[in-house]
Amino acid sequence: AQRLADQRQRVNEVLAPFNLTLEKLKDVQSLMRKEMDFGLRKETQPNATVKMLPTYVRATPDGTERGDFIALDLGGTNFRVLIVHVGKREDVGVQIVSKTFSLSQEVIQGTGIQLFDHIIDCITEFQEENNLRGRRMPLGFTFSFPCRQTSLDQGILITWTKGFSASGCVGEDVVRLLREAAIRKGNSDLMIVALVNDTVGTMMSCGYDDPACEIGLIVGTGTNACYMEEMKNVEILDDSDGRMCINMEWGAFGDNDCMDDLITNFDRDVDQFSINPGKQKYEKMISGMYLGEIVRQILIILTKYRILFGGKISQRLQTRDLFPTKFLSDIESDTLGLVQVRSILTDLGLRSTCDDTVLVKEVCTTVSRRAAQMCAAGIAAVVEKIRENRELNTLKITVGVDGTLYKLHPHFAGIVQETVKILAPQCDTQTLQESSQVLRDWRSRVKVQ
Ligand code: ADP
Repeated sequence: AQRLADQRQRVNEVLAPFNLTLEKLKDVQSLMRKEMDFGLRKETQPNATVKMLPTYVRATPDGTERGDFIALDLGGTNFRVLIVHVGKREDVGVQIVSKTFSLSQEVIQGTGIQLFDHIIDCITEFQEENNLRGRRMPLGFTFSFPCRQTSLDQGILITWTKGFSASGCVGEDVVRLLREAAIRKGNSDLMIVALVNDTVGTMMSCGYDDPACEIGLIVGTGTNACYMEEMKNVEILDDSDGRMCINMEWGAFGDNDCMDDLITNFDRDVDQFSINPGKQKYEKMISGMYLGEIVRQILIILTKYRILFGGKISQRLQTRDLFPTKFLSDIESDTLGLVQVRSILTDLGLRSTCDDTVLVKEVCTTVSRRAAQMCAAGIAAVVEKIRENRELNTLKITVGVDGTLYKLHPHFAGIVQETVKILAPQCDTQTLQESSQVLRDWRSRVKVQ
């Protein structure tokens, strides 16, 4: 019994830094608010960690938008090409046909020319499949990396994130890189009209259905958010009328060490072995690319303490990226019994006892709860800023959300919502998941003019 009590105490000690008190979460919220102000002010902006990038999007949709477009979505594990038909809401509304292409490590970590040539090849293949060659169409490029924009159709890549490292792209206008690839490949059908961050795309597409949607949030491979800011607060732009959507690039929050007291040794290990050490610290505590690795680091320590897996650190457990984030979703699922959790571990080559599976589940729950709470602290900072901007006592606002982790994890969304309510009680914050209806066949449903 004494041994069990000792073990329990050890586990509590290991997991303690992940259990954030309300006070700590309020600290995160106010730190985020401070970094937002740094990023918006002219004198502090050049050194800001949360970059607060102007997007040149000045309004959310009003539902009267119409037309046919091609959209590209580049920013994570997959690359998607879409045809988007925006019709009358009472008619067909928004219809989308899309095709997903996987991107190999060689393509995302090779040369920029290879990457952009590959993108054009995928678009061309898609156009051919849908009988669209020879038809010039406006193209919107959803590019989910930090870009410094000076107009809607231009953006200099500031840095790669999320495992991308294609050479010759940082410091270049990615729209120009795409146009040049189209010329090299002889595709003259593409009229690139807009470069948008995925957060902005999400805010806009949710905004088409809900006018209160003025925030976009992504929790997938990485995490980021955007929101409608008053022009007068965007000091680097001279215009002071109206509003503009700001791409926060909040994944970099903490890169100036402002929340190092919250960062655990496990986070440090994950960071150290990542492709971008010291960068995107907030993202690394929240998003899909990293949660499985944090869990693995904790399991290794618990095994070293002889509390797990009979104290044997197997070869498998030492394998980097052994656990995809889907593993957390599966293990934390309320409908899964211990036997099933155990078989997930067995499938990964980890032989576990009943006690082991209970503990693994506890670790997963702890890591994903912290992720959701940290994310909520960021959202709370944003909704409160919007409320203050508008000098309102209460604000009703919607957050448009996309990203597989947010959508598929059994508890993530619920914890975000409940924590935002506590941290920003004067705001009535709703969340709306991006849910564009994707059609299989474009030609059968939409008359191509
Ligand atoms: P991206 O952010 O790359 O555009 P997604 O939104 O699909 O794309 O996010 C991909 C991330 O979602 C991956 O990091 C993956 O680990 C994670 N993921 C995939 N399936 C699940 C799941 N069932 N539960 C939680 N996370 C998942």
